[in-house]
Amino acid sequence: MSSPGSVPVAVQTAETVAHVRATVDAARRRGNRVGLVPTMGALHAGHMSLISAARRECDFVVVSIFVNPTQFGPQEDFGKYPRDLPADLALCARAGVDAVFCPSPAEVYPTGFASFVEVAGLSDVLEGKIRPGHFRGVATVVLKLFEMVRPDVAYFGRKDYQQQTIIRRMVADLNVPVQIHVCPTIREADGLALSSRNVYLNPNERHSALALSRSLQLARESLAGGERDVGHLRTRMRDLLASTPLVRPDYATIVHPDTLAEASSPLPTLVALVAAKVGATRLIDNEVISLESAGQTHMAQ
Ligand code: AMP
Repeated sequence: MSSPGSVPVAVQTAETVAHVRATVDAARRRGNRVGLVPTMGALHAGHMSLISAARRECDFVVVSIFVNPTQFGPQEDFGKYPRDLPADLALCARAGVDAVFCPSPAEVYPTGFASFVEVAGLSDVLEGKIRPGHFRGVATVVLKLFEMVRPDVAYFGRKDYQQQTIIRRMVADLNVPVQIHVCPTIREADGLALSSRNVYLNPNERHSALALSRSLQLARESLAGGERDVGHLRTRMRDLLASTPLVRPDYATIVHPDTLAEASSPLPTLVALVAAKVGATRLIDNEVISLESAGQTHMAQ
């Protein structure tokens, strides 16, 4: 990774709870504000934007890299999820991360593990309806990461809109002493939201995958243009997905930003969310649309 003459940079890693706790405790004793960026690795510019935000706002930045088995369904891609720890560590080192927590599944879920976190309601719609148990796994691992690392601030992407909504609910409900910072979605120049799963796409699928961001663009532009029939708009978003080769929509909807309930009429702020299989790869995307400024929002968010 290093050019001739440059000193290769390394980052401290911790594989056990005891090690990461000791590392973070020492930083906190030095008066450091601790930021945590939870990830499943295969880091891309989306993850790096979270790390940059943490680097700007915190003294000590921990990135966790853990492909969490409990959030994958039995037919899902846990086994083949992209993993490249050496590349991830190099990226973290170059981004000035202070420590990477990369535990094994057995460290996180030792024999006899039996406790799970359930955020009722919010976890049962959209992604939760299609991926039963997914958010139980997410909420459980995120609460465990908060307990293991004990950060002051944790960074999440708006790309996973429902996930950050559920985590904010969990933190409020369970009085978890962590601040949640949500960062904008990072996209390719043509609008495709960055995702570790994009590597699964072949060139034709990659082209078809643009239907997701296009259907969000349709929602935004239609609302900006005065469309107020939200039901009709949902149908048009879904039709755009369904009429694209290789794309099979799971949902295309417009919801309340906090409750995730389907909006029947325009609210000051709405969230358009889409999920679809593109070939064999399942992708999700969303856009927060403010009706006052719908004409000005753009796909950078
Ligand atoms: P993951 O490794 O997919 O679990 O993602 C780790 C974190 O990165 C989550 O908070 C995601 O929402 C966030 N993230 C993933 N993709 C993006 C993106 N394109 N832009 C911003 N954040 C993202």
